[in-house]
Amino acid sequence: MRKKVDIINIKMIIKKVIAKRVKDSRGEATIQIIVQTSDGKFKTSAPSGKSVGKYEAKPYARDLNSDISIINNLNAKKINSLIIKKFEDLTKLEKVVKNKIGANSLFALEASLLKALACENEKELWQFLEGKTKKLPRPICNIIGGGVHSRGIKGKKPDFQEFLFISNAKTIEGCIKVNKIAHRFAYKLLRSQKKNDEGAWETNRSNEEVLEIMNVIKKKIKKKFNENLVIGIDAAASSFFKKTYNYKNPKRELSENKQIEAIKGLIKGYNLYYVEDPLNEDDFAGFKELNKEKCFIVGDDLTVTNPKRLKKAIKMKAINGVIVKPNQIGSLLKVKEVIALAKKAGIKTIMSHRSGETEDDTIADLGVGFGCDFIKTGIYGLVRESKLKRLVKIEKGLKR
Ligand code: PEP
Ligand code: MG
Repeated sequence: MRKKVDIINIKMIIKKVIAKRVKDSRGEATIQIIVQTSDGKFKTSAPSGKSVGKYEAKPYARDLNSDISIINNLNAKKINSLIIKKFEDLTKLEKVVKNKIGANSLFALEASLLKALACENEKELWQFLEGKTKKLPRPICNIIGGGVHSRGIKGKKPDFQEFLFISNAKTIEGCIKVNKIAHRFAYKLLRSQKKNDEGAWETNRSNEEVLEIMNVIKKKIKKKFNENLVIGIDAAASSFFKKTYNYKNPKRELSENKQIEAIKGLIKGYNLYYVEDPLNEDDFAGFKELNKEKCFIVGDDLTVTNPKRLKKAIKMKAINGVIVKPNQIGSLLKVKEVIALAKKAGIKTIMSHRSGETEDDTIADLGVGFGCDFIKTGIYGLVRESKLKRLVKIEKGLKR
């Protein structure tokens, strides 16, 4: 029998909130938060980015250690007295911890609390977020990589960060199967032995050469398995922008206007379906120009899961797709707001992992629960596959 605390009129009793440091896939320290209630322990680990947008919220208020000690000193009785019963009650929590902890800590704390609430309500997290499984987010998978996520081969790598495939198979399992084959084909064609931070293959080839290879893979998969793939990129252009775009492979310098022309050329030349951060994070006007193309023009560093920046992008018609990385902003209330704003404006939403990940699969539930159109998870390695496995479980109606 569960204990009831009538004075505060809720069943869920938080016994303890524990914060600790764990390692992410890059071996770097990140925060894990465990909310212990009468129902059990509910934990979430925060990821971390490498191509971090300059407008992202800081991961920790001062540093990881001080956030850990602030959270470990949170008084469980005080949180219980806030009476957090529904998603919107997170406002009450945010009033207490506002400015005291960073975005990584706030994300992990809120997600753990929601997991506890979902359990209390005998629901899965995605169901608690009022999700309906009508349509699950389609996986976007990173096959070949360059940019800051890759070390390169003999000092060379593509300047763009991610070369992506999206399968239109009917089920998540079907998409995973096709994406795995594509990843394997890329290995054969590149003869690469090296995988980058997100499990994508490293290469010394240029952006254009990689796109040629992506086209070959796409055609092979169509011919052999009759499966359709579309090609995407995440240029992560802020990472090589400094007044001009400074490409290294091959070496060239492009003005802001020339970069727009170059991206337009790639969209047409390779029939790109999805283009993330093609321009630097301040160039709303340039994004607007690209958004006239028949392609998804997606903001990540541009919008940083921040309602204010998304509102600006909407007003300027700068994008038709937006990346949602919960730890870019920390507050899940804001994450929900960003997704609602995007949906209202007809902008597709892409729930996304970070380059430094743990096996935590919370983003799968968030992607389904908030009704995102796509989810970026990568395809290779335990920390990437954990999110996909969770999606498959949700698809099959299975519990955690
Ligand atoms: C990205 O740019 O989409 C990404 C996942 O990179 P990071 O996590 O390094 O910001
Ligand atoms: Mg990105």
